Amino acid sequence: MQVQKVDDFLYLIDLEPVGIKNYIASYVLRGENAAIIETGPSVSIENLLSGLEKIGVTTEEIEYVAVSHVHIDHAGGAGTLLQHLPNAKLLVHERGVPHLMNPEKLWTQTKKVLGKIAELYEEIKPVPKERVIAATNGMKINLGSTVKLEVLETLGHASHHLSFYESESNSVFPGDAAGIYLREFDVIVPTTPLPFHLETALASITRLAELKPKNLCYTHFGHVGDVVRRLETYKNRLKLWAKVVLEEIKTEDTPKEIYQKILMRDPEINAIAGFLQNHLMFRRGILMQNIDGFIGYFRKTVKRNKTS
Ligand SMILES: [Zn+2]
Repeated sequence: MQVQKVDDFLYLIDLEPVGIKNYIASYVLRGENAAIIETGPSVSIENLLSGLEKIGVTTEEIEYVAVSHVHIDHAGGAGTLLQHLPNAKLLVHERGVPHLMNPEKLWTQTKKVLGKIAELYEEIKPVPKERVIAATNGMKINLGSTVKLEVLETLGHASHHLSFYESESNSVFPGDAAGIYLREFDVIVPTTPLPFHLETALASITRLAELKPKNLCYTHFGHVGDVVRRLETYKNRLKLWAKVVLEEIKTEDTPKEIYQKILMRDPEINAIAGFLQNHLMFRRGILMQNIDGFIGYFRKTVKRNKTS
């Protein structure tokens, strides 16, 4: 399991769930106290703990664990992780709190959406109420030694999504708000599952770009520079996909046909479609779920416009 130093106070741990490298990252911020951003799923909590040991951060030092949203690949391991961190509190969007305190529904829903992949991630354990902080937009956490973490509400990918900003290293932790960055290809793949909200997602990306960050610290996967340009590219990709999906729903194409049209119109994604299909976690499912997210968004907005 690999650990990288991103900046003076900032480290990346490759969680390698079921041995998959470059897929899920946790970040460790270290001031006088420490914070972890993103827990990953339960299956890789042991790797996260080994990563902390490699960095030289004790489990007692961790004061906060912050998660972008409650999807299993980002926060499924929160309950398991907190059992190992005696002093840590969990920061999660207020709408995500009930899901992590009583994860039965979340786990059932995850199995329904992800099938066998959910089992690979392992079950979501509950987080005790007294250890949860309902995070709200603008909330600031001081870790000492000028290291601060700011909470930014960035909805769109999910209706309970947060990003985090650290001003000392000028880093943004976008969770899933800025897509999935494939390091191997330097491509950003959309992540727009139901109930995706296009306009809100675009506004969230704009908000992150306005911070002019030096580092974009992706959960999937890794830290990259040239942030404003990358975010702009991602926005343009979402707009292109939206255009294609909207045209195709009008001609009553099936999601599979829309998928083919997207590949034709987006050569960068076409070039990596094979990689995604062979990836144990992404497979073809991710692109199909993205298309479902766009279709769902347009059906809802069209309906609303008709009734209003
Ligand atoms: Zn997600």
